[in-house]
Amino acid sequence: MKHITEPARQIDVIHETDVLVVGSGPGGLAAALGAARAGVDVALVERFGCFGGNITAVGVEGFAWYRHQNTVDTEGVGREFEDRAKAEGAATPEPQSQSHALDAEGFKVVADKLVEEAGITPMLHRAFAAPVMNGDEIRGIITESKAGREAILAKRVIDATGDADVAHRAGAPTKKTPREDMQAASVMFSMSGVDRSRFIDAVKADPQTYKDWESGEWSVETTGKEDRMFSPFLRKPFEKAMDSGIIPHNLTTIAGTWGAIYDTGDLTYLNLVHLPECDGTDPDSMTANEIEGRRQAMMAVEALRRYQPGCEGAKLRNFGMTIGIRDTRKILAVYDMTGADVRGEGRFDDSVGIFPEFIDGYGILILPTTGRYFQLPYRTLVPKGVRNLLVAGRSTGGDQVSHAATRNMMCCTVTGQGAGVAAAVSIKHNLPFDRMDIGLVQAELRRQGVRLH
Ligand SMILES: Cc1cc2nc3c(=O)[nH]c(=O)nc-3n(C[C@H](O)[C@H](O)[C@H](O)COP(=O)(O)OP(=O)(O)OC[C@H]3O[C@@H](n4cnc5c(N)ncnc54)[C@H](O)[C@@H]3O)c2cc1C
Repeated sequence: MKHITEPARQIDVIHETDVLVVGSGPGGLAAALGAARAGVDVALVERFGCFGGNITAVGVEGFAWYRHQNTVDTEGVGREFEDRAKAEGAATPEPQSQSHALDAEGFKVVADKLVEEAGITPMLHRAFAAPVMNGDEIRGIITESKAGREAILAKRVIDATGDADVAHRAGAPTKKTPREDMQAASVMFSMSGVDRSRFIDAVKADPQTYKDWESGEWSVETTGKEDRMFSPFLRKPFEKAMDSGIIPHNLTTIAGTWGAIYDTGDLTYLNLVHLPECDGTDPDSMTANEIEGRRQAMMAVEALRRYQPGCEGAKLRNFGMTIGIRDTRKILAVYDMTGADVRGEGRFDDSVGIFPEFIDGYGILILPTTGRYFQLPYRTLVPKGVRNLLVAGRSTGGDQVSHAATRNMMCCTVTGQGAGVAAAVSIKHNLPFDRMDIGLVQAELRRQGVRLH
């Protein structure tokens, strides 16, 4: 491969802050709010034009689809996201659970308000490009945008990019699932013009369960109880479309869930296209899969129009702003969570919050119908090898099974709020992340309404 040398240059320091959060998904938004509410200055950097990460940029609306009668759930800023969205008309009852699906578009405005009310400095349309380092200590970041390269300096940095971009470039050790084992990526889409009552009648006439997720392509490990529970799952229209030649016979992965249906005829959060071996840290892989995903989504739309009652007069409403990526880099943290922790009600002295026993990914589906839950340790946010940095959201430390739990959006808000509060405490008490006084962090989290134990 040819190389060129990028010339060194001076760039403007456009902002200085106490805590800089990079990435504004469930993890980053919660981190920024946790830090700001703990009384320090916060800036929130995001490469796209809205906050919310996968919720708003991809259209992942099933924020708490795991919640059932006996679920012991997270308490804290994530619940506030759901309640606030409900109060502002940006959420609708979710079909398989006791929760509300967020409206991806409406949540953009909810997130704006949360950021503004907390006094966070919003910095949209700036992508993290490089860390500003002093030895092994991160002091800020360089961003790339229409304004060129700019620097933002901070006392503490939180990496909530989902891909551990900051940790990786700062030199912290990370790992990536081998491409062939990565959870599939998805091009998400929504439709308009659906006849709601015809659609719901058809769902009721032929209810699907989580057991129906299994097919030649997919196997799902459950505890058994999930097999009989209702799932808003669609495969039959696509099988018919294969028989009639709309979908080629070798494309057996078009199937999945619908998220919400509105009186207006919007059918949203159609999670039907699964793209294996898409590496979300490789732009060439993402380019190919964005295009392939849209191609498959249009086949799915046509199949639904022909074979799903209620969709006869429907059409594509929109794709997510970007392909949805589930699985990239994770940090090697001071403590890497394990499958045993999330399956076995893990308990930790340095807990920053709880999450129910909801495991979804890498071929496992366990729903928290029993009241079982695990705690999330602070040490899973602390990367090895780089000081002044915490990681929140789906790239915290852990193995595959633990990530099948911790990647879920509500859980990302737990690690986010924990990271934000820890960063604020670290500044106020002049404590480095590796010598944190966890009692102070927990006291502030409790004050913010987080359930720790
Ligand atoms: C198709 C799909 C369906 C899913 N379904 C569900 C579901 O039903 N329920 C559930 O709980 N979870 C679901 N998940 C998982 C969940 O959405 C993610 O694990 C979760 O959103 C991760 O949160 P996060 O804050 O870590 O990262 P993200 O939500 O990915 O947010 C990261 C943010 O950082 C920004 N960013 C990234 N890189 C940079 C950079 N270099 N500079 C600046 N900004 C940057 C991104 O633009 C984004 O806004 C799904 C995921 C996908 C892809």
